[in-house]
Amino acid sequence: MNNNSSDNPRKKLIIASNNAGKLREFQKLLEPYGFEVVSMKDAGFCEEIVEDGDTFEENAHIKARAVFEALGLPTIADDSGLEIDFLNGAPGVYSARYAGENATDEERCQKVLEEMHGVARELRDARFVCSIYFIFDEDSEYSVSGEVCGYIGDEPVGKNGFGYDPIFMLSDDESMATIDEEEKNRISHRAKAFKKLSDILKEKFS
Ligand code: IMP
Repeated sequence: MNNNSSDNPRKKLIIASNNAGKLREFQKLLEPYGFEVVSMKDAGFCEEIVEDGDTFEENAHIKARAVFEALGLPTIADDSGLEIDFLNGAPGVYSARYAGENATDEERCQKVLEEMHGVARELRDARFVCSIYFIFDEDSEYSVSGEVCGYIGDEPVGKNGFGYDPIFMLSDDESMATIDEEEKNRISHRAKAFKKLSDILKEKFS
């Protein structure tokens, strides 16, 4: 990898998301590679993308393709969410809209907690899943995924992170929202998927 800006200026890489929490995570994860990470909105893409895939991978592909075709720049899209065994994989690809289009993170967490009310610990297993789709150019597209296992707590714990983090327990006294950003960037579903992608990024951007 060469980060010398005089003979290798920072390369623009578009993140096909406007979610502030995710953008921050991606920026942090991509920083060591010297990329200029730009959100699709800051790059001038403001259209609505219909995420109607049946899987995280399909949705990531749909987003990356829409933004790549509009901007013509290397694009990374991710689709992620929470799968709960007891709810047959729900909220799954509907994680973002689980409590309605305009619901808050707190309302989504509350809905899950209500659905899991009274369910025994051994039936509360869950995982965060992340699919990342990277389109470098018309001839090179890559798909990777990662997951982190945990279980659904009885109540929200912790203030860090975003989304379902406060109800996603990693152990009896630790939720995804009690660990700090650095730790989350080491263990998260997105970090695991990203690690698989990093070799590809190094090759294309060095
Ligand atoms: P999307 O990938 O932008 O479609 O978002 C999926 C949904 O899953 C959102 O509601 C997020 O809040 C949630 N989600 C995705 N990643 C995480 C995470 O790392 N922690 C908590 N919730 C997440």
